[in-house]
Amino acid sequence: MEREKTRCLIIGSGPAGYTAAIYAGRANIAPILYQGLQPGGQLTTTTDIENFPGYPMGISGFQMMEDLKDQAARFGADIRFGLATKADLSRPPYVVTIDEEKEIEADTLIIATGATAKYLGLDDEVKYAGMGVSACATCDGFFYRKKVVAVVGGGDTACEEVVYLAGLAAKVYLVVRKNQLRASKVMQERVFNNDKIEVLFEHNVTGLYGDGGVEGAHVVKRLNEMDEERYDLAIDGLFLAIGHHPNTEIFKEYLETDETGYIITEPGTPKTNLPGVFAAGDVADPVYRQAITAAASGCKAAIEAEKYLYDREEGL
Ligand code: NDP
Repeated sequence: MEREKTRCLIIGSGPAGYTAAIYAGRANIAPILYQGLQPGGQLTTTTDIENFPGYPMGISGFQMMEDLKDQAARFGADIRFGLATKADLSRPPYVVTIDEEKEIEADTLIIATGATAKYLGLDDEVKYAGMGVSACATCDGFFYRKKVVAVVGGGDTACEEVVYLAGLAAKVYLVVRKNQLRASKVMQERVFNNDKIEVLFEHNVTGLYGDGGVEGAHVVKRLNEMDEERYDLAIDGLFLAIGHHPNTEIFKEYLETDETGYIITEPGTPKTNLPGVFAAGDVADPVYRQAITAAASGCKAAIEAEKYLYDREEGL
């Protein structure tokens, strides 16, 4: 298999990966960055980002990621399309296989692989994948103009998605398993003030039905400790917004992770349990998960990688 050496390999192309590439590029480390399955990461599937400092009018997630990529490239980062499929972190230099066809041998590794949307685990989600089931309103909302859809979840993501879909669809249900939303107050207000949105508290989706596409969801409503009511909700599409799981499968064997798989780093730093391996962004952050916090940890990871290389090369 073809093998290439680098002083710094960055895996992932969200705000963490690109920011690490900007800093590593400016530090003259000449990083190689592999973009992964979804170039630009999760933010390319969101609408406007209104809370990233410096954009008083907001900016589209897609545009922000294009800008970050261009900025990293300007400072010499070698940005490539490709997916890390295997990793051997048993000893440095670390070896990461790309698309099962090429090995990259890296003195330092910055893992910025982010997190992926969770599904409920219903067979019908698989059956209707691409035919009425989605985990990304911004990607697929367009197909539901003037139709009726439901979003499952009660966090900020679910609220964002339901408000976005209300701008397109005729009617949107928000299916919440508890009797309250977990989302921030500002997002909750946007949901409750929107006439097109109906919140179904204490509801769960148990299945879907329809010929050749979703025509409705089987739902169960909790009435009290003892009783529940089952009924069918006519919808054209179901969107999942119930959280994410970290993309750490290929690294887990070597790195300390929590029970969900998030990489554990030394508090306040991107340092993992392995020297020269750093984790940045959502892959190590089950709590904040913001573009700005991901970018900040990417910056820290590149600074630590530079320091590690310097110390090693100076024999410190
Ligand atoms: P969260 O973990 O905050 O919320 C997940 C939601 O899905 C919860 O309401 C949870 O219910 C529900 N849920 C989980 N599993 C199931 C299930 N099996 N069936 C039904 N419902 C389920 O995830 P988010 O993706 O919403 O947000 C993640 C983080 O990102 C948060 O910190 C959030 O604040 C942040 N964020 C910030 C944004 C912003 O500032 N603009 C935008 C989007 C996200 P329950 O409450 O019962 O556990």
